[in-house]
Amino acid sequence: MHSALQVTTMDETTITFFRDLLLKKKQGLQNGSLQEGIQVVKEDLPDTVDRSALESDRNFVLRLKDRERKLLKKIDEALERIESGEFGTCDACGEEIGVERLKVRPEATLCIACKEEQERREKLQPS
Ligand SMILES: [Zn+2]
Repeated sequence: MHSALQVTTMDETTITFFRDLLLKKKQGLQNGSLQEGIQVVKEDLPDTVDRSALESDRNFVLRLKDRERKLLKKIDEALERIESGEFGTCDACGEEIGVERLKVRPEATLCIACKEEQERREKLQPS
């Protein structure tokens, strides 16, 4: 079967591999060490811990949660792109992101060249 939306050259085996990888990563985020890490921070701390350290730990937890939420969203979007046949294509230039890069970051939407370009621009214009 070949749909008009099929813009990647990935075969069914590769697509299945990345779908599994994304689902595992999603499950890992929802049940995994990040949640345990937050739990550790939330547990009662001894009186000897100073306030400022506690406050910075709270900020750390908020940042972790924020990162986790954003990553989950990206994973869901990657799964949608798998379903629509757009997975593996760079959002910016339309080139293939590359299987090796996707193995490390299956949720990536930009090829390495466009990602570096984006990071360079973000450094010039801090939000
Ligand atoms: Zn690109």
